[in-house]
Amino acid sequence: SPSDMKILLLEDINKTAIELFEEQGYRVEIRKSALSEAKLIEKIKDVHAIGINAKTKLTKRVLRHAKNLIVIGCFCIGTDQVDLEYATKRGIAVFNSPFTNSRSVAELVIAEIICLARQMCDRSMELHRGIWDTGSSKCWEVRGKTLGIIGEGHIGSQVTVLAEALGMNVIFYDIVTIMALGTAKQVPTLDELLRKSDFISVHVPETPDTRRLLSAPQFAAMKTGAYVINTSRGSTIDTPALVNALKEGKVAGVALDVYPNEPKKNKRERFTSDQNYWMSELITLPNVILTPHIGGYTEEAQNSIGIEVAAALSKYICEGNSVGSVNFPEVKLRSFDLDQEGLLRILCIYENTHDVMRSVNNILSDYNIEKQFSDCSNDIAYLITDISDVSQSDIQIIHDQLNEMESKISIRMLY
Ligand code: NAD
Repeated sequence: SPSDMKILLLEDINKTAIELFEEQGYRVEIRKSALSEAKLIEKIKDVHAIGINAKTKLTKRVLRHAKNLIVIGCFCIGTDQVDLEYATKRGIAVFNSPFTNSRSVAELVIAEIICLARQMCDRSMELHRGIWDTGSSKCWEVRGKTLGIIGEGHIGSQVTVLAEALGMNVIFYDIVTIMALGTAKQVPTLDELLRKSDFISVHVPETPDTRRLLSAPQFAAMKTGAYVINTSRGSTIDTPALVNALKEGKVAGVALDVYPNEPKKNKRERFTSDQNYWMSELITLPNVILTPHIGGYTEEAQNSIGIEVAAALSKYICEGNSVGSVNFPEVKLRSFDLDQEGLLRILCIYENTHDVMRSVNNILSDYNIEKQFSDCSNDIAYLITDISDVSQSDIQIIHDQLNEMESKISIRMLY
């Protein structure tokens, strides 16, 4: 039960998560900051779950000491701070929160569209220096303009809804066919999107195919005076080609939230042309909005991350439900009723050898299997089985037999 479970929360995890764990009766230890490796090794020894942000490095060296660890919650988007391969090998599930900040990013994009159309940031920076310039040349309303969205996923579709509410025509390009929201239209090629759009907003993931998706030929294909917004990943735009397009007047303005070489640390680090040689030119050009990867950073998004990751960890601990895990096969059975007499849920994690299912079911064949679901990925198999009419002595027998299986990584039993 939750009161047997010890959870360590590091790096000032949002209070929404702490409240959820405490309400459910977990034993929670909270630290405001990350721990040194030595302290982390000491602390991780006996915890069943750990919640971290980007700074806690859960390397093989650290995880090797985690004797009871079942699950890791990354209360952020990235999971690079965890050795996923080793965690998987040890049967430790890892969860994160990739989509809770979609709305925050979408709102930033809408703000940027209007700021670019009105050259608002330039006027503001001028007035900070005491310059009063009221010119309206090349300042536009966004109503009736065409917004082209590249990648109509979680964020792209939120931008679609907001942009349509502003009276924009939305078209989108995606590698999969997507049911359009509102009156938005999917276009069959990137080229068509580039030719037709007044504003182009990039919302694709970072993959080999999206690397420099917008390079010199794509800028050339755009309408003269188009605006470009990138809140996806720095690698999706060939920035020197963008600088040229801005200089030539092909592109009338750009808003960037992401860059090819972003500082690793978060807070107030200097970001200069040492990291990105084109930066010194970019900052001299008009109508260039630069933000330091803040698209997802709002209080609301942080609160939602707390709730989403804490709920995923709790579901995994109490029910075995691994849906949404980054390293585990996704397996889910209906909620498990701890109060039902004689009911046993068995959670088995195995190396994915061909005879795993047969061996497990040989052991369970004498019992009444109510439900069973398994899947495999990343060389592991994960199987949830509910059996009924089990006595306390049966539980011990089943446990011992399953534990003896050669390919076993870990076994948990809920009853
Ligand atoms: P998502 O996975 O929900 O959507 C991505 C969409 O892009 C999918 O529909 C996919 O089919 C499509 N796609 C993939 N490859 C494509 C290609 N080659 N051409 C066209 N379409 C392609 O992702 P999301 O949550 O909407 O995130 C989009 C981007 O935003 C990601 O790069 C993510 O890392 C980034 N992001 C940035 C911030 C920020 O703070 N700036 C915050 C969250 C996410």
